[in-house]
Amino acid sequence: MPSPNPAPSSPGSGDHPDPVIVFDHPLIQHKLPQLRTKGLGHRGFRALLAEIAGLMVFEFSRGFPTVDVEVETPMERTAGVRLRGAITLVPVLRAGLAMTEGILAVMPEARVGHLGLARDEETLEPVAYLNKLPSDLNAGPVVLVDPMLATGGSAVAAIDMLRKAGAEDLRMICLVAAPEGVERLRRECPGLQIYAAAVDRMLNEKGYILPGLGDAGDRMYGTT
Ligand code: URA
Repeated sequence: MPSPNPAPSSPGSGDHPDPVIVFDHPLIQHKLPQLRTKGLGHRGFRALLAEIAGLMVFEFSRGFPTVDVEVETPMERTAGVRLRGAITLVPVLRAGLAMTEGILAVMPEARVGHLGLARDEETLEPVAYLNKLPSDLNAGPVVLVDPMLATGGSAVAAIDMLRKAGAEDLRMICLVAAPEGVERLRRECPGLQIYAAAVDRMLNEKGYILPGLGDAGDRMYGTT
Protein backbone atom coordinates (compact mmCIF):
# COMPACT_ATOMS: atom_id res chain seq x y z
CA MET A 1 0.00 0.00 0.00
CA PRO A 2 1.44 3.39 -0.86
CA SER A 3 2.37 5.67 1.99
CA PRO A 4 -0.54 7.95 2.95
CA ASN A 5 2.00 10.68 3.41
CA PRO A 6 4.36 10.49 0.48
CA ALA A 7 7.32 12.78 0.29
CA PRO A 8 7.01 15.38 -2.46
CA SER A 9 7.88 13.72 -5.74
CA SER A 10 10.92 15.78 -6.52
CA PRO A 11 10.39 19.42 -5.67
CA GLY A 12 13.82 19.52 -4.14
CA SER A 13 15.63 17.76 -6.93
CA GLY A 14 18.58 19.22 -8.77
CA ASP A 15 21.10 21.31 -6.98
CA HIS A 16 18.69 22.73 -4.43
CA PRO A 17 18.08 21.14 -1.04
CA ASP A 18 14.54 19.84 -0.48
CA PRO A 19 12.45 22.81 0.61
CA VAL A 20 10.15 20.67 2.79
CA ILE A 21 10.89 18.82 5.99
CA VAL A 22 7.97 16.44 6.60
CA PHE A 23 7.40 15.52 10.24
CA ASP A 24 7.44 11.76 10.37
CA HIS A 25 7.06 11.61 14.14
CA PRO A 26 4.49 8.90 15.06
CA LEU A 27 2.63 11.20 17.46
CA ILE A 28 2.08 13.79 14.74
CA GLN A 29 1.21 11.15 12.16
CA HIS A 30 -1.21 9.57 14.67
CA LYS A 31 -3.07 12.86 15.13
CA LEU A 32 -3.16 13.95 11.50
CA PRO A 33 -5.84 11.48 10.24
CA GLN A 34 -8.01 12.43 13.21
CA LEU A 35 -7.77 16.06 12.16
CA ARG A 36 -8.58 15.22 8.55
CA THR A 37 -11.69 13.29 9.54
CA LYS A 38 -14.97 14.79 8.35
CA GLY A 39 -17.35 15.41 11.21
CA LEU A 40 -14.77 16.45 13.81
CA GLY A 41 -16.32 19.52 15.46
CA HIS A 42 -14.62 22.93 15.52
CA ARG A 43 -13.65 22.63 19.17
CA GLY A 44 -11.91 19.29 18.60
CA PHE A 45 -10.39 20.50 15.34
CA ARG A 46 -8.88 23.58 16.98
CA ALA A 47 -7.54 21.62 19.93
CA LEU A 48 -5.95 18.95 17.75
CA LEU A 49 -4.43 21.51 15.40
CA ALA A 50 -2.88 23.31 18.36
CA GLU A 51 -1.54 20.02 19.76
CA ILE A 52 0.10 19.10 16.46
CA ALA A 53 1.60 22.59 16.12
CA GLY A 54 3.06 22.26 19.62
CA LEU A 55 4.71 18.98 18.66
CA MET A 56 6.23 20.59 15.57
CA VAL A 57 8.06 23.22 17.60
CA PHE A 58 10.96 20.99 18.59
CA GLU A 59 11.91 20.35 14.98
CA PHE A 60 11.46 23.78 13.46
CA SER A 61 13.28 25.49 16.34
CA ARG A 62 16.24 23.12 16.18
CA GLY A 63 18.49 25.69 14.46
CA PHE A 64 17.45 28.71 16.54
CA PRO A 65 20.51 30.62 17.75
CA THR A 66 21.48 30.45 21.40
CA VAL A 67 23.94 32.23 23.66
CA ASP A 68 25.88 30.81 26.56
CA VAL A 69 24.71 31.75 30.03
CA GLU A 70 25.84 30.98 33.54
CA VAL A 71 23.42 30.49 36.41
CA GLU A 72 23.75 29.92 40.11
CA THR A 73 21.94 26.76 41.22
CA PRO A 74 21.28 26.31 44.94
CA MET A 75 24.45 24.18 44.85
CA GLU A 76 26.95 25.92 42.54
CA ARG A 77 27.49 27.93 39.40
CA THR A 78 26.84 26.15 36.08
CA ALA A 79 26.77 26.86 32.36
CA GLY A 80 23.77 26.68 30.04
CA VAL A 81 22.27 28.43 27.04
CA ARG A 82 19.32 30.65 26.29
CA LEU A 83 17.65 31.51 23.02
CA ARG A 84 19.23 34.52 21.33
CA GLY A 85 17.09 37.22 19.79
CA ALA A 86 13.35 37.74 19.69
CA ILE A 87 11.32 34.98 18.05
CA THR A 88 8.37 36.18 15.98
CA LEU A 89 5.44 34.00 14.92
CA VAL A 90 3.38 35.36 12.06
CA PRO A 91 0.03 33.62 11.52
CA VAL A 92 -1.79 34.29 8.29
CA LEU A 93 -5.37 35.12 9.28
CA ARG A 94 -7.44 33.40 10.12
CA ALA A 95 -6.34 29.83 9.71
CA GLY A 96 -2.89 30.41 11.23
CA LEU A 97 -4.30 31.44 14.61
CA ALA A 98 -4.96 28.02 16.19
CA MET A 99 -1.55 26.72 15.13
CA THR A 100 0.02 29.81 16.67
CA GLU A 101 -1.75 29.15 19.97
CA GLY A 102 -0.27 25.64 19.97
CA ILE A 103 3.23 26.98 19.33
CA LEU A 104 2.84 29.63 22.03
CA ALA A 105 1.94 26.94 24.56
CA VAL A 106 5.48 25.59 24.13
CA MET A 107 7.24 28.86 23.29
CA PRO A 108 5.39 31.53 25.27
CA GLU A 109 8.17 34.07 24.89
CA ALA A 110 7.55 34.42 21.13
CA ARG A 111 6.06 37.62 19.77
CA VAL A 112 3.12 37.44 17.36
CA GLY A 113 2.72 39.56 14.23
CA HIS A 114 -0.39 39.23 12.09
CA LEU A 115 -0.92 39.20 8.35
CA GLY A 116 -4.38 39.32 6.82
CA LEU A 117 -4.59 38.46 3.13
CA ALA A 118 -7.64 38.42 0.88
CA ARG A 119 -7.97 37.61 -2.79
CA ASP A 120 -8.60 40.52 -5.16
CA GLU A 121 -11.53 39.24 -7.19
CA GLU A 122 -10.32 41.03 -10.34
CA THR A 123 -6.63 40.20 -10.36
CA LEU A 124 -7.04 37.01 -8.26
CA GLU A 125 -3.84 38.09 -6.49
CA PRO A 126 -3.65 38.16 -2.67
CA VAL A 127 -3.84 41.66 -1.18
CA ALA A 128 -3.07 42.56 2.43
CA TYR A 129 -5.85 43.98 4.58
CA LEU A 130 -3.80 43.71 7.80
CA ASN A 131 -0.06 43.95 8.34
CA LYS A 132 0.83 44.24 12.01
CA LEU A 133 4.43 43.23 12.57
CA PRO A 134 7.15 44.10 15.09
CA SER A 135 9.40 46.86 13.74
CA ASP A 136 12.57 44.82 14.36
CA LEU A 137 11.74 41.57 12.54
CA ASN A 138 15.44 41.02 11.92
CA ALA A 139 16.02 40.68 15.68
CA GLY A 140 15.64 36.88 15.53
CA PRO A 141 13.94 33.90 13.86
CA VAL A 142 10.62 34.54 12.11
CA VAL A 143 8.08 31.74 11.60
CA LEU A 144 5.29 32.14 9.05
CA VAL A 145 2.34 30.05 10.20
CA ASP A 146 -0.39 28.85 7.83
CA PRO A 147 -1.87 25.35 8.13
CA MET A 148 -2.55 24.99 4.39
CA LEU A 149 0.07 25.54 1.69
CA ALA A 150 -2.15 25.20 -1.39
CA THR A 151 -1.32 27.18 -4.56
CA GLY A 152 1.37 29.08 -2.67
CA GLY A 153 -0.06 32.46 -3.78
CA SER A 154 -0.71 33.81 -0.29
CA ALA A 155 2.50 32.25 1.06
CA VAL A 156 4.59 34.00 -1.61
CA ALA A 157 2.81 37.30 -0.82
CA ALA A 158 3.32 36.82 2.94
CA ILE A 159 7.00 35.93 2.52
CA ASP A 160 7.48 38.99 0.33
CA MET A 161 5.86 41.21 2.97
CA LEU A 162 7.97 39.68 5.74
CA ARG A 163 11.19 40.10 3.78
CA LYS A 164 10.32 43.71 2.95
CA ALA A 165 9.60 44.26 6.66
CA GLY A 166 13.13 43.07 7.47
CA ALA A 167 12.80 39.33 8.21
CA GLU A 168 16.12 37.62 7.53
CA ASP A 169 15.95 34.28 9.37
CA LEU A 170 12.61 33.07 7.99
CA ARG A 171 10.86 29.69 7.68
CA MET A 172 7.28 28.54 7.10
CA ILE A 173 5.33 25.99 9.09
CA CYS A 174 2.18 24.41 7.74
CA LEU A 175 0.16 21.33 8.42
CA VAL A 176 -0.64 20.09 4.95
CA ALA A 177 1.14 21.18 1.78
CA ALA A 178 0.25 20.57 -1.86
CA PRO A 179 3.10 19.67 -4.24
CA GLU A 180 2.05 22.65 -6.40
CA GLY A 181 2.55 25.09 -3.50
CA VAL A 182 5.87 23.53 -2.53
CA GLU A 183 7.10 23.83 -6.10
CA ARG A 184 6.01 27.46 -6.33
CA LEU A 185 7.85 28.34 -3.12
CA ARG A 186 10.92 26.48 -4.31
CA ARG A 187 10.90 28.58 -7.49
CA GLU A 188 9.88 31.94 -6.07
CA CYS A 189 11.34 31.83 -2.56
CA PRO A 190 14.56 29.83 -2.98
CA GLY A 191 16.20 28.77 0.24
CA LEU A 192 13.03 29.04 2.31
CA GLN A 193 12.62 26.03 4.59
CA ILE A 194 9.07 24.68 4.86
CA TYR A 195 8.00 22.37 7.69
CA ALA A 196 4.85 20.28 7.13
CA ALA A 197 3.08 17.30 8.68
CA ALA A 198 2.19 16.03 5.20
CA VAL A 199 2.69 16.77 1.52
CA ASP A 200 -0.58 15.66 -0.03
CA ARG A 201 -1.41 14.43 -3.51
CA MET A 202 -2.61 17.49 -5.45
CA LEU A 203 -4.89 20.52 -5.67
CA ASN A 204 -8.38 20.21 -7.10
CA GLU A 205 -9.78 22.68 -9.67
CA LYS A 206 -10.91 25.02 -6.87
CA GLY A 207 -7.50 25.12 -5.23
CA TYR A 208 -8.36 22.77 -2.36
CA ILE A 209 -5.79 20.22 -1.27
CA LEU A 210 -6.55 16.50 -1.87
CA PRO A 211 -6.96 14.57 0.33
CA GLY A 212 -6.40 17.61 2.55
CA LEU A 213 -8.80 18.42 5.33
CA GLY A 214 -11.21 20.89 3.74
CA ASP A 215 -11.33 24.58 4.57
CA ALA A 216 -9.13 24.89 7.65
CA GLY A 217 -10.52 28.28 8.74
CA ASP A 218 -14.13 27.14 8.49
CA ARG A 219 -13.43 23.87 10.29
CA MET A 220 -11.54 25.71 13.04
CA TYR A 221 -14.24 28.27 13.72
CA GLY A 222 -17.42 26.39 12.81
CA THR A 223 -18.30 28.68 9.90
CA THR A 224 -19.13 26.04 7.30
N1 URA B 1 -7.11 26.45 2.24
C1 URA B 1 -7.80 25.55 2.99
O1 URA B 1 -8.27 25.87 4.07
N2 URA B 1 -7.91 24.29 2.52
C2 URA B 1 -7.39 23.89 1.34
O2 URA B 1 -7.53 22.72 0.98
C3 URA B 1 -6.68 24.84 0.58
C4 URA B 1 -6.57 26.11 1.04
